[in-house]
Amino acid sequence: MVQSHVQKFQRIGIIGAGTMGSGIALLGLRGGMTVHLFDVSRNMLESGSKYIEKHLARKNQQELRANLQLTTELAALAHCEAIIEAAPERIDIKQKLFAELDSICGPNTVLASNTSTLPVTQIAAAAATPERVGGMHFFNPAPVLPLVEVVRGAQTSEATVEAMVRLAAQLGKTPVVLSDSPGFIVNRIARPFYGEALRLVSERIATHQQVDRITEHSGGFRMGPFRLMDLIGIDINFTAMKSMYEQTFGDARYRPSLLQLQKIQENALGKKTGRGFYDYHNEDSSSTGAPALESSSIFNAPVYISPGNWAPGLPELCRQNGINVQQNLSSKTAVAVCIAGREQDNRTVLAQLEKQLSPEATILCQCVDVTLSEIATWLANPRRLAGFDGLFFSRGSAVTCVGTPELSGHARKHVEQFVASLKRTVEWIDDGPALVTPRIVAMLANEAFFAIGEGLAEAETIDKAMQLGVNYPKGPHAWAQEIGFRNILAILDHLYEEYHEERYRAAPLLRRSVRQYLHSAPK
Ligand code: NAD
Repeated sequence: MVQSHVQKFQRIGIIGAGTMGSGIALLGLRGGMTVHLFDVSRNMLESGSKYIEKHLARKNQQELRANLQLTTELAALAHCEAIIEAAPERIDIKQKLFAELDSICGPNTVLASNTSTLPVTQIAAAAATPERVGGMHFFNPAPVLPLVEVVRGAQTSEATVEAMVRLAAQLGKTPVVLSDSPGFIVNRIARPFYGEALRLVSERIATHQQVDRITEHSGGFRMGPFRLMDLIGIDINFTAMKSMYEQTFGDARYRPSLLQLQKIQENALGKKTGRGFYDYHNEDSSSTGAPALESSSIFNAPVYISPGNWAPGLPELCRQNGINVQQNLSSKTAVAVCIAGREQDNRTVLAQLEKQLSPEATILCQCVDVTLSEIATWLANPRRLAGFDGLFFSRGSAVTCVGTPELSGHARKHVEQFVASLKRTVEWIDDGPALVTPRIVAMLANEAFFAIGEGLAEAETIDKAMQLGVNYPKGPHAWAQEIGFRNILAILDHLYEEYHEERYRAAPLLRRSVRQYLHSAPK
């Protein structure tokens, strides 16, 4: 069937007058459309219209209220050019609605579901003409968040996709088009942000406050994963994870966390119940706090930095802050920093350092692609050894560091003074592969590579969706480009070696991209 959807929508229908439906109806009115709002509950229609009136009044747009029609009769939507369904997240309810809408509406009406977790293809299959059915996934609060994921079901026609894109734009949103797949783009790519954070805390590598501080102050995330889970609702976040896990037949990348389940069992669901990972009854305990550091004394001793690519910008940062960066080791070297990775044979670099340094000098080694406990086995004296995240050192104000259990007080102080002299603070965490921000960012990038490889969407589309949908400081693919695909792969392989879990397998497209780059790189 050839469909001819309107160029400009004038009459739309919204199914469900709850949180999402009333928000989308408000957008329709503001977009100059007549909106037919349907709900099975009169009470919900009333509260939905109150919400809409309140928001119209706030912007002096009361006259638009005349364009809103409330109804409990589905047939009243027959002449709409497009219908957006925001009924409860149940496949039986949605399938029944789409079967009915398909028979009520004219052949050119676009039918879209705002489902966040159900397969659009399955919803569309209930309609006699599934080619006119697709997904339009808005984010909550719909009037505020700019993104709409336009979902192409297996049978959705291109004309329907184009019409949904036009409608999203007319509603003032930025559409991104993707193929139907569990979690779409945003809810899928964001999974590791929560999943890895929960693992870091479950394995006692860092506290939830530390993970939040580190991701915010070294990764540049607007909100750390625990503060964000508390805001979203731990139960909602857990359900999204469970749904991804079930829809992918138990892919280890989406395994839900026991830590979240326990929070749900104790009814600590986040801000809405007054307590989640943080306690909102007491202002102090809901803050991520700051690391307690007393290292204020000035550090002006010489520092040596080895060759390597695991701490971009560090030598420049040191020089900018007046640190005496030595070209060679001398007896005066206070801190020797190893920024070589496995590929650059950091073991040999460290052996050299240990041989040549005076006994009082501290060794600070990047431990993003190797754990500190392994590095410690290479050295005769691990008391002078600490590890750090070089990858995100120059990017933010928090520097993640790890000490060996035997780390001397002298070496610890050296590290803190060195970091403080660069106007940054140390976050001491326990030893674990890839630390905090590199682990989370590499897993986000890996998820993006899986999605691109599976044809979900293009890299640029994914990056745009993550920046607009969840406010990420950078798209995961662009981040991987900046850090280097090779480094991202090294982090993932390191995680895999440490855990031997499927969860950390690198996306085939990432591995191929690294090889292609090696092949095409100038000799
Ligand atoms: P909600 O519970 O606030 O609203 C659902 C509304 O649907 C209620 O008013 C209810 O009376 C009505 N309803 C019940 N049965 C119905 C039926 N048979 N026909 C028509 N209406 C019916 O739910 P919500 O949070 O607005 O979510 C709606 C949809 O939007 C779901 O599919 C959800 O997954 C999706 N979504 C929600 C969010 C969010 O953060 N809340 C974000 C994106 C997408």
